[in-house]
Parts: sequence; structure tokens; C-alpha cells
Amino acid sequence: MWFFRSPEIVFGDGALERLSEIQGRCALIVTDANIMSLGLAEPVRRRLEAAGLTVRLFTEVEPDPSLDLVRRGAAIARECSPDWIVGLGGGSCLDAAKAIWIGYERPDLEPDAIGPVGTLGLRQKARLVAIPTTSGTGAEVTWPIVLTDAAEQRKVSVGHPENTPDLAIVDPALVRDLPPQITAETGLDVLTHAIEGYTCAWANDFSDGLCLQAARMVFEYLPRAYRHGAQDPLAREKMHNAATLAGLGFGNAMAALAHALGHALGAVLHLPHGRMVGLCLPYTMEFTAGGDAPTRYQELARSLGFTGAASPGDDAATALAAAIRDLARSVDQPLCLRDAGFGDDAFAAALDDLTAAALMDSTIILGPRYPSEEEVRQLLGCIHCGDPATF
Ligand SMILES: [Zn+2]
Repeated sequence: MWFFRSPEIVFGDGALERLSEIQGRCALIVTDANIMSLGLAEPVRRRLEAAGLTVRLFTEVEPDPSLDLVRRGAAIARECSPDWIVGLGGGSCLDAAKAIWIGYERPDLEPDAIGPVGTLGLRQKARLVAIPTTSGTGAEVTWPIVLTDAAEQRKVSVGHPENTPDLAIVDPALVRDLPPQITAETGLDVLTHAIEGYTCAWANDFSDGLCLQAARMVFEYLPRAYRHGAQDPLAREKMHNAATLAGLGFGNAMAALAHALGHALGAVLHLPHGRMVGLCLPYTMEFTAGGDAPTRYQELARSLGFTGAASPGDDAATALAAAIRDLARSVDQPLCLRDAGFGDDAFAAALDDLTAAALMDSTIILGPRYPSEEEVRQLLGCIHCGDPATF
């Protein structure tokens, strides 16, 4: 039995207005200091107050939110008893909001013990609104939560389908002034979600169309959004929608090997998620296409117009990987870890930890080709020096 999960999604210019129709007593906005200083919390607060709600703020979210941060946020929620939790920000804020909401409803559950089976029994106290201020993670429509165990320096993937937000507000006004670097790396995250969602083991009829459309939109609009920013509102809006479409797609299928390796690089090297998964993607496609398992790269490359219908599967993967590298180059992103400033000695010193972290990541088993430990090391070596992963 399969499910397709989605919040109510309000999108396009003026989507934020939906907040002034919300019914309730009290809202807790979960966000970070950067969003506060950019003034993005103010229009949210204003509309919630116009709807008659008392508004409280928890502004301590940090990048890669820790288990402790979630415990602190849940304690604040229990203190002010909101009937709405409003996550506002990038993926870290939205993931923190989900975990804080669960901690508020289920104080008996430690944040790293939130698993996908059984019943959580949410929505006894509050519901969740997610408002993204980057066009990347798709966390406004998905349920997995990535937290960081600071003591053990590793990412912890938790979450339950019940913690899918109730309402996602995808308003392009909130991403109008994103800096170019964040536009580029979050945009490559969108592409990785779309391609892994389309080609992973759990791809399905309901997620395919969303992933395809999101991938098309990234190839068309990411270079424009990167180059012109606020001067190209159409490209901004399309990238914002593409992030949510890809979120719905991979959120109802899964991510795969580029995310396993990207999570490992993010946790060990403290580099941004989108930059890392986007950097890994063409290598993991080359590796996957070199195995025996059937892949869908040919179908995907043909749909995106990167190869003729007669190209064999591995050629399709090569053509797609080349197109992804061209796209990354066009938005000035590194194509290997060396380009990203990660030297040979530092890489050699980190390789064991990186390999162990990747092998522990749950997404590693969801691609068509499952790598051995030695193959993970080899793949990381290619990602470091820029050699194609054709083994
Ligand atoms: Zn991602």
C-alpha cells in the first residue's frame, strides 16, 4: 500500500496572505537570527496578529539544528501552548519546527527517537505551517527531519509521515533577495531531489511527473535566477515552485546515493547541504549507470532533451552527468572537492569518517546500485579529485 502525502500548498505572489485567514489562539514562529535581521518574520507576524493570534517567537535555530536546540524549542512551546507552530526559514528552520512540534506534542519522545513506524498522535495540541525562505530543500512539504548529534558529529535522520506540515506557503517575495551563492547551491539541491526522486527504488507514478517538471524548471530557470536575482521575478518564482515540486516528488519517493554522500560531507566537513549533494550527483549517476541494475537515466535524459531516444542507458547517464556539470559551472559551483578548497591531506585524513558516515546514511540503499565500503571510498576519491566515477 502506497501513500501520497502533501500539505495544502499556497503559492505565487501574495501567498503569505493566507496567514491572515488562519483560525486559532496562539502561534509560535520557529526561525533564526538571520531571518529576523532580514525582516522576514515581520510580515508573518503581522498577518498572524491580523488573524487574531498571539504570536511568540523562537529565534535560536542554528544551521544543522542539534538535538539540544530541539529540546529547548519544545520546552518553549510547552510554556506558551500554541495551537500553531510556524516554521519560517531555510531547511534548518523548517526541520527544527517539525521536531519542536513533535517534542511539544510528545514530551515523552526524545528527538533522536522519532521513527517512521507506528502512530505519533500529532495534532492534539497544534498544527504546522511551513514557510520556506530558500528555494531548495522542499522541507515545507516533506516529513523527514535532519538533525545533528553535535557530540558525535553526525547527522540524524528522523521523522514520521504524520509530521508532514498542514500548510505550506510558497511565496516568491520571501526569496526575492537571496544571495547568488545560496541561489546556486539550493537550486542544485532541487535538481538532486528531482533526479534522485525519479531514479530511486521507490519512484512511483505519483512522484514521477513532479520530479520531471522540477528538473526541467531547474535547467531553465536556475541560471537566470542566479544571474539576475530580484531583477528576474519569473525565474525566482519558478525556482521557488520547482523546490516545492521536487520536495513533493522525492518526499513521496526517496533520495539516494548523492544524498548519502552529501550528508556525510556536510556532517564531517561542515559544508552546505545543497553544494555537497549537487557536487556528488553526477558522480553517483556515473557509478550507478556502471552497475547491472536497470536505471531510468535514459528515460530521464530523453524527457529533458539531453540525448536521442536511441542512446543506450550508460550514454544517457553520461549525457545527463555532463549537463549537470555544465549547469553547475554556469552558476559558478565547484565540480570536485579540490575545487571547493578541500586539500589532499585534509581529504585523506577525513576519508575513514566520511566513508563510515555515508554507509550509515539510510538513503544509501535506495539507489539502483548499492556500493560496497570499498566503492564508497573510491567514489569519494573521484568526488575529491574530479575523475569520472566509471568503475
Ligand atoms: Zn537535499
